[in-house]
Amino acid sequence: MLDGTKATVCERSALRINPAKTCQPIGAMYAALGIHGCMPHSHGSQGCCAYHRSHLTRHFKEPVVATTSSFTEGASVFGGLSNMTTALTNIFSIYDPEVVAVHTTCLSEVIGDDIPMMIKKNIAEGKIPEGKHVIHANTPSFVGSHVTGFSTMVKNTIKYLSDKTGETTDTVNILPGYVDPSDMRELKRLSAELGVKITMLPDTSDVLDQPQTGVYEMYPKGGTKVSEIQAMGDAIATIACGDFASKEAAEELEKKCNVPFSLIDLPIGLKGTDTFIDTLRRTAGVPVPASITLERGRLLDLISDMSQYFHGKKVAIFGDPDHVVGVTRLLVEIGMIPTVVITGTLGKRFERQIAEIVSKVSPDAHIESNADIYKLHQIIKTRKVDLLMGNTYGKHVARAEGNLPFVRFGFPIMDRTGHRLFPLVGYRGAMYYLDKILDQLFDKADREVPEELFELIQ
Ligand code: SF4
Repeated sequence: MLDGTKATVCERSALRINPAKTCQPIGAMYAALGIHGCMPHSHGSQGCCAYHRSHLTRHFKEPVVATTSSFTEGASVFGGLSNMTTALTNIFSIYDPEVVAVHTTCLSEVIGDDIPMMIKKNIAEGKIPEGKHVIHANTPSFVGSHVTGFSTMVKNTIKYLSDKTGETTDTVNILPGYVDPSDMRELKRLSAELGVKITMLPDTSDVLDQPQTGVYEMYPKGGTKVSEIQAMGDAIATIACGDFASKEAAEELEKKCNVPFSLIDLPIGLKGTDTFIDTLRRTAGVPVPASITLERGRLLDLISDMSQYFHGKKVAIFGDPDHVVGVTRLLVEIGMIPTVVITGTLGKRFERQIAEIVSKVSPDAHIESNADIYKLHQIIKTRKVDLLMGNTYGKHVARAEGNLPFVRFGFPIMDRTGHRLFPLVGYRGAMYYLDKILDQLFDKADREVPEELFELIQ
């Protein structure tokens, strides 16, 4: 399908071909699903909501529930207040959520709907039942990406719901970033190993990785409870994972409730996970248990066993900025050479972070934010790589380049199933991904080497 991609790069400023990102409301919807008893609400046309739900369902292989203001021509001309009021009345009377998390779409943003005013008006008119909450995030998709939408929804959840009572608890807040439920589950497991009490926001484990019970639950048992979000203002501190997805929420909590925060990269790979463990240890004032040290040692052992196969291999990586930063560092740790590194989200700080990580092993790497997959493909044509890493959309590039070994990570992965149950973060996540990378490299070698070099034992 991409056989026509030309190696010559022309300057493009107002055109994206195969964007390496998707639209803001998808991130806002995903963040809202990590609040217990929450109904994400799309203030716009039905088509946007249907697309956002199906995109999430295709990645998580779970039903994703959300409501919509169902704009038609009338709302587009006269504004969406009437639709919002009807929607909130119906949602609370039919679906009875604890929280409705409203996000906007391009249409409601372009006509300039004032969502805080609409929420206040509905509260003043008694349309929001006692003890229930309506929160919102502005998510215009003509700027930013799904990561921006996620970040804004988490930030605004804190803005609306968190509070400081004056009594500091022994809890540490963890903002996990735009990661899968398996990653959130893994961060909770590591925290429990250290014996640290945490509140994670959002938390989509036990929401989008539900066991098969034969019983449908509109509001699964997972998700951060409203009472827990309120109490985040009394926590000792916050650990925010990922500059792009979590920093703004951590800053908001510090501003509103005076909770200090540490900003770290997503805990991917050896150093990334070390930083998470060390930050949590110092924040909570606890020692690191032997079980964590042993787990780390097993990853180290795996790296030393595998590094002979990884050494010097060139890699192209694309995806969400926080993920790509973590994965690039992991690849450097195992001796690979990140040669092309891009993200679809705008951000010069991404380029600075990657340049620092690859400075010793790949000083001339092509690093670009706000780029697209077409550009990635063009660069690969002139700078040959041994491996491609990214989301589902990379498969066309891998196929066009003679079935280049391709390892999927991040969001979305729509053409595979099991990924959502295995973490990328933590020592265990790194072990799982190293195994996947090596399998891809060996499979290609097994397919292509001459028969006299076809080995049973590597
Ligand atoms: S109109 Fe905007 S919000 Fe709706 S699907 Fe398209 S980009 Fe996303």
